[in-house]
Amino acid sequence: MTRFVPHPRLLDSPRHRYWPAYPTPVTRNRQELPPNSAEVVIVGAGPAGLAVAAALWHVGVRDVVLVDRDGRPAGRFLERIDLLDQRVLRSPYEHHPGVEGYRDCELRDFARMHWGLLTPVERNEIRMSQAGHRSVVPVDVFAAYCQHTAELHEVPHRLWRGVVRALDVTEDRVTVRGDGFAIEAGQVVLCQGEERRAAPAEWWSGARPAGVGYWDEPVPDGVEAQVVVGAGLTAAHLVRNALAAGGRVAWVLRAESERYQCSDVNASFFRAEGRARFDGRSGPVPWADRLALMARERRASVMFEFRPSFEAAEGDGRLTVHRGAGVRSVSGGGVELAGGRRVGGDHVSLALGTVPSIGTGLLPDELVGARDGWPDLDERTLAYRRAPGVFAAGAAACMVLGPAARNLDGHRVATARVAQTVAARIRRVAHV
Ligand SMILES: Cc1cc2nc3c(=O)[nH]c(=O)nc-3n(C[C@H](O)[C@H](O)[C@H](O)COP(=O)(O)OP(=O)(O)OC[C@H]3O[C@@H](n4cnc5c(N)ncnc54)[C@H](O)[C@@H]3O)c2cc1C
Repeated sequence: MTRFVPHPRLLDSPRHRYWPAYPTPVTRNRQELPPNSAEVVIVGAGPAGLAVAAALWHVGVRDVVLVDRDGRPAGRFLERIDLLDQRVLRSPYEHHPGVEGYRDCELRDFARMHWGLLTPVERNEIRMSQAGHRSVVPVDVFAAYCQHTAELHEVPHRLWRGVVRALDVTEDRVTVRGDGFAIEAGQVVLCQGEERRAAPAEWWSGARPAGVGYWDEPVPDGVEAQVVVGAGLTAAHLVRNALAAGGRVAWVLRAESERYQCSDVNASFFRAEGRARFDGRSGPVPWADRLALMARERRASVMFEFRPSFEAAEGDGRLTVHRGAGVRSVSGGGVELAGGRRVGGDHVSLALGTVPSIGTGLLPDELVGARDGWPDLDERTLAYRRAPGVFAAGAAACMVLGPAARNLDGHRVATARVAQTVAARIRRVAHV
């Protein structure tokens, strides 16, 4: 039997190399506010919004406006990743924010075109991918590819920095309202991604104690003993960074043990047979079954590559792992576990996962139709059933496409459904 031995050096992939820029085919629009009308508005320019914009470009829909809080393609994603000093993506080369079914340069081709910029370990990952094995993508390659995809499909020209606050839906139009702007749109695609999960209210009373931070906030300098709460890849990066800086770490896990695995969900959910367990392509799937499957599949885990260094650090006492440890309360000086045990440290970092943004706050609750935290979406088109001119791509589509909807690969699947529907609706309106 072949034993899979992951390469820990993958985790040190360099960041911020020089990547040749491609000529921008259009003049960038320097207006501060977006135009007041568009055929399609995309809210969010993360990997999902980028994929939707690229797909719409291919189906001939060009009157598109993207509005994003950060204002750069994949900006928040890369910001979060860089804050954690995450150097490789978890998803393999075949998962990329491109467009299904069109002859664009795919992520692996893009990496091969820049072979001379890659390290030997990174080149080997491409060979692994070509041979059909699991392969790991450098964040540097991914960032350059996002920029390439954006330029190729004229996204910088259509992207405005701004925060969307509300969608007013009428029978045939949607007004997208933000700070100081309003855009009349035929259709809107929500690609808002996920927000960090907040700590339970009972962990502290009043304002968050000093010395307690979340994973998407910088860890202050000079921390020697850090407590990390959470069991996922984000927590693993915090642990690794603290150890690399010469610190000591107490890692608090609710589960009985940490889970090391390649991908964050079972690989079948990246394929049609996995998605069929949600979207009912092979017969209706009861909501309760989908909900149970989602709870089972969205469990935190860590890439295999972390195991050697974590085991070594635990062996020599720099890392203490508190397994099966529920948190009762959190303060600046550490955490108290359910049994009353105290775990002390100079700083507590909370990495409790993320919560999908499902349109709540932008659309009235009765149009979101939320059930158990998930929006009421049409399975074929990903349109909100109660607001057919509004669509969702990304994590919000999990109860239709399964847990992989929140991954890059899921964005491509969502994009294919949304772009075809949006284009067909535009053609229909044009013929009326
Ligand atoms: C640290 C980390 C590592 C990850 N690694 C991987 C990985 O390797 N592979 C993988 O497949 N997935 C990974 N994920 C999951 C990942 O978040 C998604 O695949 C990807 O970022 C989701 O893309 P998105 O466009 O849906 O969301 P985002 O990247 O979050 O983009 C959404 C954008 O919408 C903006 N926005 C939201 N609401 C509004 C509003 N009202 N007005 C204006 N703008 C708004 C946000 O500010 C943001 O810029 C990772 C997640 C994290 C946190």
